[in-house]
Amino acid sequence: MKVSIDKELCTGCGLCAESVPDVFEMSDDDIAVVKIKTVKDALVDQVREASEDCPAEAIILEE
Ligand code: SF4
Repeated sequence: MKVSIDKELCTGCGLCAESVPDVFEMSDDDIAVVKIKTVKDALVDQVREASEDCPAEAIILEE
């Protein structure tokens, strides 16, 4: 699974970086960025949950 952030939608709340720090981090301009290109199987469920929990629906998943 691949994951990316829609920078136009991200409000910088920090939730994703807090819940899955292996995949998301906050950039200097307070927008979430993805640290990896492909999500390891072990992290897929957490990334799906982060996407569902994102208040801005800014986390894009590609199967
Ligand atoms: S949870 Fe969504 S809005 Fe919040 S920082 Fe992550 S991508 Fe941005």
